[in-house]
Amino acid sequence: MSKDIEKTESAGDNENREEGRVLHFIEQIIEEDNRSGKFDQRVHTRFPPEPNGYLHIGHAKAICLSSSMAKEYHGQFNLRFDDTNPVKEETEYVESIKEDVRWLGADWEDRIFFASDYFQQMYDYAVDLIKKGKAYVCDLAPDQIREMRGTPTEPGKPSPWRDRSVDENLDLFERMKNGEFPDGSKTLRAKIDMGSPNFNLRDPIMYRILHSDHHRTGNKWCIYPMYDWAHGLEDSIERITHSLCTLEFEHHRPLYDWFLDQLGIYHPQQIEFARLNLNYTVMSKRKLLELVKGNYVSGWDDPRMPTISGLRRRGYTPESIQDFCRKIGIAKFNGIIDFTVLENSIRDDLNKTAGRRMGVLHPLKVIIDNYPDDQTEEMEATNNPENPADGSRKVPFSKVLYVEQDDFMEDAPKKYYRLSPGREVRLRYAYYITCLNCVKDEQGNVVEVHCTYDPATRGGSSPDGRKVSGTIHWVSAAHAINAEVRLYDRLFKVPNPDDPSDPVDYKEYLNPESLQIIENAKLEPELGSAKPSEHFQFERIGYFTPDKDSKPDHLVFNRTASLRDSWKKMM
Ligand code: ATP
Ligand code: MG
Repeated sequence: MSKDIEKTESAGDNENREEGRVLHFIEQIIEEDNRSGKFDQRVHTRFPPEPNGYLHIGHAKAICLSSSMAKEYHGQFNLRFDDTNPVKEETEYVESIKEDVRWLGADWEDRIFFASDYFQQMYDYAVDLIKKGKAYVCDLAPDQIREMRGTPTEPGKPSPWRDRSVDENLDLFERMKNGEFPDGSKTLRAKIDMGSPNFNLRDPIMYRILHSDHHRTGNKWCIYPMYDWAHGLEDSIERITHSLCTLEFEHHRPLYDWFLDQLGIYHPQQIEFARLNLNYTVMSKRKLLELVKGNYVSGWDDPRMPTISGLRRRGYTPESIQDFCRKIGIAKFNGIIDFTVLENSIRDDLNKTAGRRMGVLHPLKVIIDNYPDDQTEEMEATNNPENPADGSRKVPFSKVLYVEQDDFMEDAPKKYYRLSPGREVRLRYAYYITCLNCVKDEQGNVVEVHCTYDPATRGGSSPDGRKVSGTIHWVSAAHAINAEVRLYDRLFKVPNPDDPSDPVDYKEYLNPESLQIIENAKLEPELGSAKPSEHFQFERIGYFTPDKDSKPDHLVFNRTASLRDSWKKMM
């Protein structure tokens, strides 16, 4: 029986999977393990961030993958902070990571862990390795250790301290822990193989001395485990089954396996997948931190950042990011995903859910000459044609309106289906109007457009069957609310600002036009009560959400995404 057929048959116990979908390679491994009973049918995954920055869209891929595998196979998912480096880690990052992971819909239930909670256990494991003659205290400085590591063609040189006795090692290691030695003066190293073709196995450092306070353990420890020593132990202690991580850890796996085998403790299976790379942005935490610290952006949650908090503030939904992660798939090869794939995920989501509203970004006054001066009418407007259950709302209409400046042209080409002297257009949900003329200021800028309306076309259709080619949006001037609108473009001008073969600093490629602020947009009154986390489609313009800076007396909206094509045409 082929795997695909088996898959469809076993899909019955799995409510989270679309029927007939081909399994990716990690699902295939999990199903094989479930068949062979390798982990007693358990599936237990984790997301192990280091709390040294905010999470980005690449992390979202890892979170969605690990949490969805747990969900799909009725397993468990842990959130674990890999907080083994006291110097760069902060509580602010821990809190932001929790918020982002929860927002993405990954559920760790009560299983939130910190590597620092295992420091004593890790220390005991290290003592165990020393006793087995598999680890030694080395007095070489970190630089010397690096120099003696050898090259791909030459083996490394053994440390002069490699053959210390077990007793001496136990004594020195304890004294390292007790704070008797200064930073950098000693390390604990695994005794593996200085000639191994895999550099990670050339007696890697397990512990270094750092007299530095830790955000959770305070000054209790002055030796800290290296990532490569700690990581596999954390997975083992939590009895993780499938430890999913990115490809760069492939060459570290033999080391993790070696530690677990020497200690004879529970052994998870590490599986590597390709990391997410997106064009027009950078994804290294160090660079994102530099953008924040250097005020190139307004913060980690600047809506132009590829961070989860930035995307959320911009108006992305968890569903759109989950959908994006599903679409890009899981593979073993690194590639670059086009930013538009992410944008299309949010458009698809908001097209279904966002309420339609009218807003004018670059207002031009339109006066309906034959409309009664003091009259106001309420026009019935559909909230979302994709979802009839959303119903409709009333939009006030009066003699003086705002339309987009681009929706008027004095000398227009034949195919211009908007306002131009002598032409008739439909005002969305209102009337047909015919343009008469315009008024200009001394510089020749059009400041007013005069029109007449046809009272028989109320609601936007003509009883005589007369057709118009263009429909434009509008806002009643007397009822409009003012708002600041922030339009975002790509943060970088070039597709690969982070190209390692390019000597130019990535910051040189920042896009100076990535933020455009419109101070005085005119919106329909309904938007005055919009709350952050609500999403709207401004008809013909794009998707918008209130910013966290928005206040009742100063409304601020972020553009999440433009509509697929109309943006370029309009602006
Ligand atoms: P660094 O280790 O350089 O600080 P990092 O992005 O690897 O940065 P971690 O906190 O170690 O940060 O990442 C947590 C997890 O997220 C890791 O398991 C890592 O494999 C995964 N991850 C990080 N970047 C990406 C990415 N671009 N695509 C997919 N997964 C990623
Ligand atoms: Mg990492």
